[in-house]
Amino acid sequence: MKKDAKTFKEVAERCTRFSPDECEGCSFSNSTASSEDVSCKHCKHYEPGKVCKLDLYREIVTNHNL
Ligand code: SF4
Repeated sequence: MKKDAKTFKEVAERCTRFSPDECEGCSFSNSTASSEDVSCKHCKHYEPGKVCKLDLYREIVTNHNL
């Protein structure tokens, strides 16, 4: 399974649970996120190694042939 920046972005764009991580100084939110910010890497469900705590990453990659 691919785990690169392009795939993280493509998955997040299709994911209904994408929640941009909130941190001090981060200006983006769901409504203001620019296209570069939409990525599993910026999602609060992101977990290194597994990618998605909710196991949605694998499902979306498989369903969309990413
Ligand atoms: S980390 Fe999981 S919940 Fe977040 S955008 Fe990626 S697949 Fe969706």
